Amino acid sequence: MEKIKMTTPLVEMDGDEMTRIIWQMIKDELLYPFVDLKTEYYDLGLPEREKTKDQVTFDAAYANQKYGVSVKCATITPNKQRVEEYNLTEMWKSPNGTIRAILDGTVFRAPILIDSIKPAVRNWKKPITIARHAYGDVYKATEYRVPEEGKAELVFTDKNGKESFRKTIYDFECPGVLQGQYNKDDSIRSFADSCFNYAINTKQDLWFATKDTISKQYDQTFKLIFKEIYDADYREKFEELGIEYFYTLIDDAVARVIRSEGGYIWACKNYDGDVMSDMVSTAFGSLAMMTSVLVSPNGQYEYEAAHGTVTRHYYRYLKGEETSTNPMATIFAWSGALRKRGEFDGLSDLVSFADKLEEACIDTLNDGIMTKDLVGLVEKGTKATAVNTIGFIKAIRERLEAKLA
Ligand code: NAP
Ligand code: MG
Repeated sequence: MEKIKMTTPLVEMDGDEMTRIIWQMIKDELLYPFVDLKTEYYDLGLPEREKTKDQVTFDAAYANQKYGVSVKCATITPNKQRVEEYNLTEMWKSPNGTIRAILDGTVFRAPILIDSIKPAVRNWKKPITIARHAYGDVYKATEYRVPEEGKAELVFTDKNGKESFRKTIYDFECPGVLQGQYNKDDSIRSFADSCFNYAINTKQDLWFATKDTISKQYDQTFKLIFKEIYDADYREKFEELGIEYFYTLIDDAVARVIRSEGGYIWACKNYDGDVMSDMVSTAFGSLAMMTSVLVSPNGQYEYEAAHGTVTRHYYRYLKGEETSTNPMATIFAWSGALRKRGEFDGLSDLVSFADKLEEACIDTLNDGIMTKDLVGLVEKGTKATAVNTIGFIKAIRERLEAKLA
């Protein structure tokens, strides 16, 4: 069989621990035999980040900007314990944070659904994709405890030193707490552009919700910016595709989400996205089945799994024990990136390969061959055999070969 050709390289970001092992297995079993894989390789594994003083992470992000599409393996975000374990000279920042800051992107998380794992919410039939505005609000707040009686004010001084606003927040008659939050129009705009682009790209409705009835300046600004950008740049395209932009209050949105069938993107402010993405992913079944893509406002893509490096399994692997780590989300990161590369470069064979790879994965699961984590989640009465990671990947390969033959 002739291998499928690529033209532009895909930016490949390798990672750490168990997912690094899986990364190689996926390439060896599911990609190299079928695709003339063309990647620009960046090793974001912690030893290489240490060696390059984290320069490799920046280089990888710039390459993502240059070529438009990347696929990333999960990486360790160092903490104190990792600094000792890896003998680090510095507690390097989260690669995901660095890449997100450079691409100015929004993260979209969507679950992979199979028939035999029913979401906890029974009427959910299609994936719900959560888009979180990962900038500002309570995550960049300034706060302190108010120790005693006194007046708290919100003051703004312009760049010439002139005080242009002063408002009393509260006249404290007793101790309490105080917090100042901000966000920026530029960041909200980028968020909106990423969301509208992604909705068009995946042909799904976009929902957005805030609490603008209570927060008449702050949340209202989010609502107005989204509306302005939608009307100016996206309304026509949405109507053409028959998809909808829908704004409502956050509490109404939560009620509608629970009653819905799924099949749309739910854009959330930072805190809402933090909380709701954990709720939605848990309700859909498993973190091991959650995909994640970072989309920049000007349409650059970075695909990855939502889970981490699965450290506990890695330590078992190092001891020579068999592991049954689920590679689904990492395979879907590859298929998502290859499909997007194919779309950008007009390579229908590559797009079709990505589709078939995903079908082969789903077929394998539907045949009851799965990793241990899923066996516990499937409906009673489903035929399910637990296999180890490489066994699972080989079963996918068999089905993929049949599809490509
Ligand atoms: P994790 O790697 O997601 O794993 C947490 C637990 O979830 C695992 O121990 C395992 O449970 C289960 N799990 C996750 N993915 C699985 C899979 N593919 N197959 C089967 N089970 C899976 O989270 P963590 O242990 O908190 O973090 C480990 C490292 O990953 C940390 O250094 C963190 O910095 C990093 N991290 C990276 C990213 C990223 O790069 N995007 C995201 C999150 C965390 P059992 O052990 O019960 O089987
Ligand atoms: Mg969270």
